[in-house]
Formats: sequence, structure tokens, C-alpha cells
Amino acid sequence: MNENRVVLKFGGTSVGNSENMGKAIDKILKAKTQYEEVVVVLSAITGVTNLLIHAGRSALYKKPQDTLLKLKEKHYEACEIIPDTKIKMQTILEIDDKLSELEKILTGIYYVGEVTPRSLDYIVSFGERLSTLIVSRAIKARSVKSEHIDSAEIVITDENFVNANVDFEKTQERANGRIEPLLKQDIIPIITGFIGASKNGQRTTLGRGGSDYSAAIFADVLNAKEIWIMTDVDGVMSCDPRLVKDAYLLHDLSYLEAMELAYFGAKVIHPKTLEAAMRKNIPIYIKNTFSNSKGTLVTSAKEGQERKVKSISLLTDASIIEIKGYGLGKTTKVMKEIFREMEEEQINIMMVTQGSSQANVSFVVPSEEVKNVKNLLAKEYYDRFNVINNVALVSIVGEGMSQTAGMAARFFNAVADKGVNNLMISQGSSEVAINVAVRAEDMQKAVQAIHSEFLSAENE
Ligand code: ADP
Ligand code: ASP
Ligand code: MG
Repeated sequence: MNENRVVLKFGGTSVGNSENMGKAIDKILKAKTQYEEVVVVLSAITGVTNLLIHAGRSALYKKPQDTLLKLKEKHYEACEIIPDTKIKMQTILEIDDKLSELEKILTGIYYVGEVTPRSLDYIVSFGERLSTLIVSRAIKARSVKSEHIDSAEIVITDENFVNANVDFEKTQERANGRIEPLLKQDIIPIITGFIGASKNGQRTTLGRGGSDYSAAIFADVLNAKEIWIMTDVDGVMSCDPRLVKDAYLLHDLSYLEAMELAYFGAKVIHPKTLEAAMRKNIPIYIKNTFSNSKGTLVTSAKEGQERKVKSISLLTDASIIEIKGYGLGKTTKVMKEIFREMEEEQINIMMVTQGSSQANVSFVVPSEEVKNVKNLLAKEYYDRFNVINNVALVSIVGEGMSQTAGMAARFFNAVADKGVNNLMISQGSSEVAINVAVRAEDMQKAVQAIHSEFLSAENE
């Protein structure tokens, strides 16, 4: 491990405009006074990835001028953070170059009449390539050595476009060749998050919100001492503060707790980040770019379990698929077949329950997958399944729960007392999470009931 090395990741809001970028840069320079070697990973400016995806899809039927104009405005404004006029003008020229490359790709899509996951990955890569360019120039303009780096040169993945899997060994080799020399020369590398490339040089991405994961990948291959995820809230809270106004900051979490929270929808950290950090036991701090809060520390430690339930997470836009009416003994076979097919199609099954007496099987999938699931099931189970749309999953997470009886009962009662119907319940195999599926319109009520049952000051 390199005692003097830290990886900092800034999210979309943290680089959202020139003012926010200024705050992010202050944090980078402060970190440089604490650590000899600082590696920075950035997201695209907030909203830009969505804009690019939309541009890619709509390029099929319309010319991209509107989007290009919006992108130009956002990135030109961000350049206001570069104090030196010459460096600023040069950066603007480079932005123009990149945007005309993008225009060519979008125009190509219009004429060819096809947009593929591969071309979408190429298109979204512009977001991070532009934000890193601007921030590294702004740092340079403050006379601190810095270089922007396209992680497609380093992060090697398979060709599973839009959600690629990383080859850590090859990535390590590339990072040694490309990043280590910069750190030796005291240069701060400003690296694109979210982006990788296949062995053949095709651009890939690591899944939405994947810059957190990129930070953990770099920390892993560069053997950093810590990862700091810099975002727009003080750290991981007892619930999404946008939903529960009493939500409070959690000072520590275990990797497992953070993983379950992230998996079940707490957007503040991408689930794969934990997996990567755990490989070498690297602590993660989740902190606020805009405040001096100490943040949340995520490690393998289980201490600090003053509460059995630590946090609530929720996942919207889910659907339940119910398969009905198979005789006892047949269920295992049915489940095996269904799940094998789903795996082949890479459909993410978020929760499963089986009512063994009637041999019914229910599972939860993201709503966007319902069409695929229906196609798969229609072949064999054509009249025996039912789909419930507009479902939300609400989960409570905490390592302390597994040793305490009655947590599930309290959880389900809290929801039922508010007149909310449980559509499906499950206690994950890790015993760190308990989940309930409810109708989307009941979600807010359910979350508030659960928060006051387990996480209000008086109910510990
Ligand atoms: P970034 O752009 O920095 O990656 P994200 O928008 O991806 O930031 O994640 C931060 C957001 O996650 C917060 O603004 C907050 O609304 C949301 N969030 C959801 N659950 C939680 C939670 N338990 N604690 C803190 N924030 C949460
Ligand atoms: N810019 C990417 C996204 O919006 C990655 C990230 O922000 O982490 O999904
Ligand atoms: Mg994020």
C-alpha cells in the first residue's frame, strides 16, 4: 500500500458549473497538502450524460444542433473557472474540437439510421472527457502540475457495452505504465470516471453512476491508502434526505452495509465500488464537496453498531413478475430454467420469493426489463404469469439486525400500520437487509413509517 496516495472522486454536481468546480479544485489542492500523491477521478458535468444519451437516441430522427448548443453553453460557462485567458481560450478551442467530433458521430447515426450500445458508449464518453479537460486546465492555471487522462487508455474491459466488466490485471499494467510516472513527477492526474475500453480499443462504460466504481478501480490498481467519494451531501445518511427531512449522517458503515444500501437503491454510492475497495481493504470516505463535514467512513469494521438498523434505501421503477400454479416438486425445475434464461439475457433479478405450498414464484426486476422478461416467459409459461408494474422496493440495512429477533416483524408491522400493502417481502441471504415491495404511490408513506420506527431519536 502507498501510505501517501489518495484517490478523490467528484460527482456531477461537484463539477456542475464553474463555481462548483472551484470548490472541487479547492478540495483537491487541500488533499495535496495532506497526501504527496493525489489521483482525481471525475464525472461529467451534471445533466450532461443524460443529454448525451438523449442526443444519441434522438439522432436517429433529428439533427443534433440543439444538444450541441446546450453542451457548448455548459462547458463554456465551466471554463470561467480558468483564470488565465490564454489557457482558457486554448481549452475552449479543444472543447470545440471535441464537440465537432461528437457532431460527426451524431450525424452519422442520422444517416445510417442505427444507434447501438457501442455507439452510445462512444457518445457518452464526451461528458467525462470534457469535464476532466476543464478541471485539469484550471488547476494548471493555478500553477499546480496536472494532466487530464482518458481512462479508455487504462481501464480495460470486456465488450459488454453500457455495463462493461473490468479486467483488473490488464488495468493494473496500464495504470503502472501511465499513472505511476505522472505521480513520480508530482503531476495530479485528472482521470475520466465511468469510461473504459475493450482490448480492441472500443470505448465502453461501466454503468450509470459508474465513476464511483472507477475511483475504486484506480485505488485498487494503484494501491492507494484511501478513496474519497466527494458528492453533494455530507455522507451516507439514514435515508435519502430528499425523502425524509429528519435523515441524519451515518459516521461509519461496513462494506457489506454500504453494498446492500447501494444495491437496493441508495444512489450516493455505486454498488460495484464496494466490491473493488474490499479486494484490498481500502477505506472509503464519502464526503461533501461543499462542506467540511467529516463524512461517512466505510471499512470492513463492524464496530459502531450503536443502532441495529443503520439506513433505509429505496428503489423505484421496479415490477413484480408472478409465475403461478406449478405443482410441488416442479418449482425448483421451473425456477432453474427461468433464472438461467434471465442470466443469459443479463436481466437483473432484484428479489425473489417462493410460496412453496402453491409452488408460486415471484421476482422483482427493473421495469425497463419487463418487455424482455415477458418475451422469455411467453415461450413456456404463456398464460401463467402476471406482471405488477409501478412497484418500489424499500429496504432496511444494518449488520446488527442479524442477531436480533423480531426485526422483520417490526418492519412489516410499521408498514402495515400505515395501511400500506406489502406486495412481497424478503430477508436477504446476507441477513444485512430486509426488503419489502410496495406500490410506488405508497413508497413515501412506507419510508417515513420505517424511518420513525427504527431511526428516530426515541426509537433505538
Ligand atoms: P454524485 O453526482 O456526486 O455521484 P449522486 O447524485 O450520484 O451524486 O448521489 C448523491 C445523491 O444520493 C444525494 O444527493 C442524495 O439525494 C442521494 N441519496 C440517496 N440515498 C442516500 C443516502 N442514504 N444518503 C445520502 N444520500 C443519498
Ligand atoms: N456521468 C455518468 C453518469 O451520469 C457517471 C457518473 O456520474 O458516475 O452516469
Ligand atoms: Mg453518483
